Amino acid sequence: MNCYYCHGIGTVEKQQTRFCACDAPQPFIVENVPALVCIQCGDKTFSGEVVSALEKIKDGKTQVSSLRTIRVFDFVSEPVGRHGTAHNTNPSGV
Ligand SMILES: [Zn+2]
Repeated sequence: MNCYYCHGIGTVEKQQTRFCACDAPQPFIVENVPALVCIQCGDKTFSGEVVSALEKIKDGKTQVSSLRTIRVFDFVSEPVGRHGTAHNTNPSGV
């Protein structure tokens, strides 16, 4: 079986991969998900069965053990506290 993205150049093989729904409102990652992975470009293809299983995990319909918690940060380009009055919301100070 060949990769859809590589137009038949890349070969896909069955692997246990990580599924990441990082853009979801409530981000989650599922480890050890069976997928067809292209050894050329790394594209992952999940079967319909796997996708519906992931949906069930997401909706809490499947009992799974939680391995760890992911931490999500908001990227701040300026060091916090560099200008102490930058975000002064104190009305009496104006
Ligand atoms: Zn590929």
